[in-house]
Amino acid sequence: MNANFEKQVLISGNWKMNENHFEALRLVQELSALLHLPNGETVLSESVMVSIHPTFTSIRTVQTAIESDHVPVFLGAQNCHYIDKGAYTGEISPDMLAKLGVQYVITGHSERRQYFFETDEIVRKKVDAILRHGMHPILCVGESMEERNSGKAYNKVKEQLKAIFSARSVEETLRIVIAYEPIWAIGSGMTATSGDAEDMCAYIRKEIGELVGPEVTDGILIQYGGSANEQNAGDLLSQSNIDGLLVGGASLDAKKFVAICRSV
Ligand code: PEP
Repeated sequence: MNANFEKQVLISGNWKMNENHFEALRLVQELSALLHLPNGETVLSESVMVSIHPTFTSIRTVQTAIESDHVPVFLGAQNCHYIDKGAYTGEISPDMLAKLGVQYVITGHSERRQYFFETDEIVRKKVDAILRHGMHPILCVGESMEERNSGKAYNKVKEQLKAIFSARSVEETLRIVIAYEPIWAIGSGMTATSGDAEDMCAYIRKEIGELVGPEVTDGILIQYGGSANEQNAGDLLSQSNIDGLLVGGASLDAKKFVAICRSV
């Protein structure tokens, strides 16, 4: 990375299938109290952006709370379909999310790849749809334990990146957040070492530069995700190629999540 480039950090809370809308309201109110100083200003440093990703049933409630309390967080979603409207029973379209003020949408999460059979092809369509509606995809990539142990981690990530970034413009690329999430680290308590996470994030930066062009390498934002918590966040975020964290479990505890956001 260019040492003169001021690092902007994005901390994202993936609430997964947790918190009904009453609980979600309480959580965002707790976040509001912890993120504000008595004079109404935010406790966050200027370089830190935060997004929270409730379930679909809580998005409207959380959106209203963010707006009325001026909570310094962006509204996010965990998924969406890639088609704008039609006969897709049970699905939520990117247009619906954009109309609710959603700015970041997680896509390609390993849980969706594993349990809902989302392929790279589907993930690419979702990335395209999210971008088309003016939102930012948070694209998750990462290897399984088996792939890491057999020396295939870098190749796996390279293929996932190729599927999304080949024939992608500079402008679109700079709107995509990449989350390196080793599958074995998600929800397991086994965080990647900051050195291993840094090495893979540096590799991701280089690969995207090769796929799209050298002008994107300084500007792309790369998060690490996988059992990040208030104890390891500072170390992870001090790595030069880690520009943020995608946080699952620890984002459900307002105190822990705010401690993570303040550890930059
Ligand atoms: C995630 O779901 O993206 C995640 C990183 O979860 P956890 O922090 O619980 O490992």
